[in-house]
Amino acid sequence: MRRCFDLARLGAGQVSPNPMVGAVLVHNGRIIGEGWHQKYGEAHAEVNCLRSVAPENRAFIPHSTLYCSLEPCFHHGKTPPCVDLILQHKIPALVVANTDPNPLVSGKGLEKLKAAGVNVKSAVLEEEGLWLNRFFFSWITRKKPYVILKWAQSLDGFLGKTGERTPVSEAASIRLVHKWRSETDAILVGTNTAVIDNPRLDTRFYFGKKPLRVVFDTHGKIPSNYHLLDDSVETWVYGPKRLGIFIKTQFFPQENQSVAIPSMLDNLAKNNHATLMVEGGARVLQQFLDGNEWDEIRLLQNNRRLGSGIPAPSLPANAIPVTSFGIGNDRVEIFRRSTTC
Ligand SMILES: [Zn+2]
Repeated sequence: MRRCFDLARLGAGQVSPNPMVGAVLVHNGRIIGEGWHQKYGEAHAEVNCLRSVAPENRAFIPHSTLYCSLEPCFHHGKTPPCVDLILQHKIPALVVANTDPNPLVSGKGLEKLKAAGVNVKSAVLEEEGLWLNRFFFSWITRKKPYVILKWAQSLDGFLGKTGERTPVSEAASIRLVHKWRSETDAILVGTNTAVIDNPRLDTRFYFGKKPLRVVFDTHGKIPSNYHLLDDSVETWVYGPKRLGIFIKTQFFPQENQSVAIPSMLDNLAKNNHATLMVEGGARVLQQFLDGNEWDEIRLLQNNRRLGSGIPAPSLPANAIPVTSFGIGNDRVEIFRRSTTC
């Protein structure tokens, strides 16, 4: 099943708002097929797994066990149901981590397979599977984007110096951030960050997709020649419409940022954006924290001291540590929101 998760992860950033799914076919303790869901709208993991079986191994398919990180689909979506595929290939045993979170179909695929005589085992490494696809599960059950707050802070707890661009993270961390961006659907910054840092919010230090850029610019302060207004990728600006020809940039006039957050999240959901990463600054991060409009915090802790500057947000009481690891001289700490308080 962990191999299924590893395969599933290869689809990160390419399948949203679908889940990442991996599948492995095992005959007598030997893997004879592997596949994952590679791109939104294209073949499911089970299909790719069965396609990968070498001609000399195809006779083993009806004597093998299929491991799949998510319950095989039961209904006709963009591709035919994988439950039917399993039955056609007469696969006698199936092991899954998670059932489909959609209450209308949850467990139905497994029931159909059981009724047809397939030996089904479910909830194997269930928690790991839930964490792997947390964006998708959150998306399906709440119809709201999964919100990640990300910030980098100095050892003495500052985001940066006031009024100037102060990178506090190392090259390796910046690359990691670009990887994270490629795995999310949208990235947001507030006006001050946009004006002081002139960020591109792109993924140039990593491969993968370019997410939607979202910026709060309530009073139209971002200079027109800045990256966020270059119309190079899809961008939403919550602020007054600018003069000029914009094709990929949309403007949403707003009174103030606290009004913008709920309507912006609704707007993301309506446009099938299942994840949002908020990259600052301090004020915007604090608004998401105060409104409890967050699911995960990714904190990059640098080992330098700034002495003074803009204080980093305090971790809220309902932040539960999930994992932490070192990258260069930085430390990455990941927290999730407790659902019980
Ligand atoms: Zn399927």
